[in-house]
Amino acid sequence: MPDFDLFVIGGGSGGVACARRAATHGAKVGIAEASRVGGTCVIRGCVPKKLMHYGAHFSEWFKAARSYGWDLSEPRLAFERLCEGRNKEIARLNDIYIQMLARAGVELFPARAHLLGRAGEGFRIAVGEQEVTAARVLIAVGARPSLPDVPGIEHAITSDQVLEDVYALPERLAVIGAGYIGLELASIFNALGAKTTLILRAELPLRGFEHDLRQHLATEVAAHGVTLWNETVVERIERGPGGLRVHTSRGPLEADAVLYATGRSPVAQTGGLGLEALGVTLHRSGTVAVDTAYRSNVDGIFAVGDCSDHAGTALDGVAFDLTPVAIAEGRALAETLFNANPQTVNYATIPTAIFALPQAASVGLSEARARGAGHDVEIYRATFRPMFNTLTGSTGRTMMKLVVDRATDRVLGCHMVGEDSAEIIQGFAVALTAGATKRVFDATVALHPTAAEEFVTMYQPAPT
Ligand code: FAD
Repeated sequence: MPDFDLFVIGGGSGGVACARRAATHGAKVGIAEASRVGGTCVIRGCVPKKLMHYGAHFSEWFKAARSYGWDLSEPRLAFERLCEGRNKEIARLNDIYIQMLARAGVELFPARAHLLGRAGEGFRIAVGEQEVTAARVLIAVGARPSLPDVPGIEHAITSDQVLEDVYALPERLAVIGAGYIGLELASIFNALGAKTTLILRAELPLRGFEHDLRQHLATEVAAHGVTLWNETVVERIERGPGGLRVHTSRGPLEADAVLYATGRSPVAQTGGLGLEALGVTLHRSGTVAVDTAYRSNVDGIFAVGDCSDHAGTALDGVAFDLTPVAIAEGRALAETLFNANPQTVNYATIPTAIFALPQAASVGLSEARARGAGHDVEIYRATFRPMFNTLTGSTGRTMMKLVVDRATDRVLGCHMVGEDSAEIIQGFAVALTAGATKRVFDATVALHPTAAEEFVTMYQPAPT
C-alpha cells in the first residue's frame, strides 16, 4: 500500500489547487514545496506585481489631482516602505496557503522532491531526507526566468529579485524583453521614478497578442515616459565606475540596474526530477507533454501549470502560463481522478491582462489568428479620449476592438488598452465563453458613463 494516493511536487498555483481538491474528495495527498508555498504567483509573480502596479499608479493620480481641484504638497516615494508592505502581504498569503493545505488534510513537506523510480504500481519519491511512495505523482514545478548567454549576464537581475527582495529603486533601469512581464515592470518602475528604457528585439512588444493592442499600448507606454528601443539586440553588459553599461546594436545604454525578462523556462525545474529515467516525454523547452486529462505518457504521472504543455495547446504558440490556467488544470485533474467527474479546461476564451500603465487586456482570438484559422471577420474598433482625461488634459487614448465572425456573428475576440481593461475584459470573457454574438452585444444596454459601454455601442464595422 503506497503512503499516498497522490503526491504533488510543487506547491504553487496548480499543485496546491489539485492537492486541496483531491484531499476534499477523500484522497490521501502529500505535497512537496522547495521554496515558499504559494509558488510564483503569490511569492514572486502576479500578487507582488499587482501591488507594485497599485503603488506605481499613484504617480499619475497625484499629477491628475490638481486638475480635479486637489492641492497636494510634493509627493515623495518611500520605496522601501512599498516593498516592505508588499512583502508583509506576501508573508500573510503564504501563511494562508499553508493553513488551507492543513485544513484540507494535505501533508506538506517543505523540501525539494524528485522521483527515485517505481514502487510496485506506484512511485518512490525522495523528499528532503525522507522517502515516500505514492500511487500517482503530479508534476507542478512551474518555471523560472531564463537568461540568455550574453557576456556580462551575471550583472542582470530578473523579476524574481525585483518582486521578492527589498532593494534600492534604481535611478536608471534597462529592461530587456517585451513580453507582458517586461512591459509591466518597465511601466511600474518608470512610474515609480526610475528613468526606464525597454529594449526589445521586435518592432513591437507582446508577440502573439492582437496587433492593434500591441501598437496602441507601445504608443501609450512611451507617452507615459518609458523609452522604447525596439529592433535592438543586447550584445554585452559591463560594470564600470558609473554603473552598468549595456552594449546594444543601437549603441550603449548606461543603467544602474539591468532587468532581464526574456522568458521563462521549466527546464531547470523538470530537468532534475528523474522524469527521463522513468521514460516521461519532455519537450525541448522542458515542459512535460500531457493529454487532455493531464496524463503524461507514463501511467500515473501527471503534469499541470507552467511546467506542462497545457494539453498540447502551448505548442500552438499561445502562452497559457497563467495562474488561473494552472489552478483550473489542477482542479480538473483532481475531479477526474478522485471524483469520477472527468474535466478538461476550455482554452478558447482565457482572458489575459498586461498590468502596464495603462493596462491592456484580451480574450479570444486576435484578428490575425482569427483570419489564420479561416474566419471571414468583421472588425469593430474604437479609440477615444477617456472621460477622466478631459479635465487633466492628458492626451492618452483608450482603444477597443472586437473581432466578429461574419458567418455566425459570434464575437471571437475582444481587446482593450486603457484604464481598468483587466476588470472589463473579465466580464466580456463570460460573454465570449457563452458564445455571444455581435447581435447580443448590440442588444445589451450600455452602462453609462463608462469606458466599457463602448463595447456594446460599436455600430459600424471598420473598413477593411
Ligand atoms: P508555480 O507557481 O511556479 O509553482 C511551482 C512551485 O514548485 C514553486 O513554488 C517551486 O518552488 C516548486 N518547486 C519546483 N521544483 C520543485 C521540486 N523539485 N520540489 C519541490 N518543489 C518544487 N499569471 C497570471 O495569471 N496573471 C498575472 O498577472 C501574472 N503575472 C506574473 C508576473 C510575473 C513576474 C511572473 C513571473 C509570473 C506571472 N504570472 C501571472 C504567471 C503565474 O505566476 C504562473 O503561471 C503560475 O504561478 C503557474 O503556477 P504553477 O503551479 O504552474 O507553478
